[in-house]
Amino acid sequence: MWQVIGHTWAVDLLQRSLASQRLAHAYLITGPDHIGKTHLALEFAAALNCNGEEVPCHHCTPCRKTVQGTHPDVQVIEPEGARLKIDQIRRLQYDLALSPHEGRRRVCVISQFERATTEAANALLKTLEEPPRHVVLILTASDASLLLPTIVSRCQILPLRSVPTPIIEAALRERIAEEARVQLIAALAGGRVGWALQAIQEPALLEQRQDNARQMLQVLCHGRARRIQQAEMLATHEDVQGMLQTWQLCWRDVILLQHHCEELLANTDLYEELAQIATSSSPEQASTAWQSTRTMLDQLEKNVNARLALEVMFLSWPRVEVGVTDSV
Ligand SMILES: [Zn+2]
Repeated sequence: MWQVIGHTWAVDLLQRSLASQRLAHAYLITGPDHIGKTHLALEFAAALNCNGEEVPCHHCTPCRKTVQGTHPDVQVIEPEGARLKIDQIRRLQYDLALSPHEGRRRVCVISQFERATTEAANALLKTLEEPPRHVVLILTASDASLLLPTIVSRCQILPLRSVPTPIIEAALRERIAEEARVQLIAALAGGRVGWALQAIQEPALLEQRQDNARQMLQVLCHGRARRIQQAEMLATHEDVQGMLQTWQLCWRDVILLQHHCEELLANTDLYEELAQIATSSSPEQASTAWQSTRTMLDQLEKNVNARLALEVMFLSWPRVEVGVTDSV
């Protein structure tokens, strides 16, 4: 039984290729962060070496070792630091040339392949051109367009999409009892099933989001001078990106409330505060604020000066009186 939430078509496709023994030498699983790419790759890796009847059985030794990360023929390679380097690919090529230790196939999952250096990508291309018979490579990437076309054309592509919210809700109900929490996490997940599962195991994820939202509410209460001070203070925050993602989602909710689409709200636990912002700002202001938050998220990828960018962004947000305790 495949233990995959959503992505039914992708599981069907992999199951069919296993049943017919018409496996590709390489697969490319694409999709946004936390959507379940590596999880699907590992389920497939387990199925490839499973000794049970209905693969992957999750009970036999190869299945258990694959899930635990101790199967000698299943490797997961991730970027070292910011990039996936040529040395990592060379080490992998050395391993792949050897016969499997105990499984039928050597399986290598190479995650975030968009982070490979050109040298590393070109080195892997050689393996993709002449793959050893017992090897199955599974690459993951956020988008196929970020990889060399020569790599993409040698892989079978599985583009994963957001998992529908009702499917995530059903999966969460099997794990937690509190219905309000089920709905909040499913709404915040926005189709990212991996994030939803992480959120039930790490309550700190949700707490951090509330802290981030509180920071936004405080900025909105302040005038120009205090906003500039806050930009300076928050520029050194340990997760500026996470903070901006929360703010972008809050502004999205404000816009939805202004258009009377409450049922689509993600931050359901912040309804009162967001409704206050929605009624005391115009749709144009909210839309400008959403846009400036999005722009800053893009700029952050390009190593912009965070303090200056936060300043510009905060000054583009409207001034709104919302009921939060001003502790700054
Ligand atoms: Zn098994």
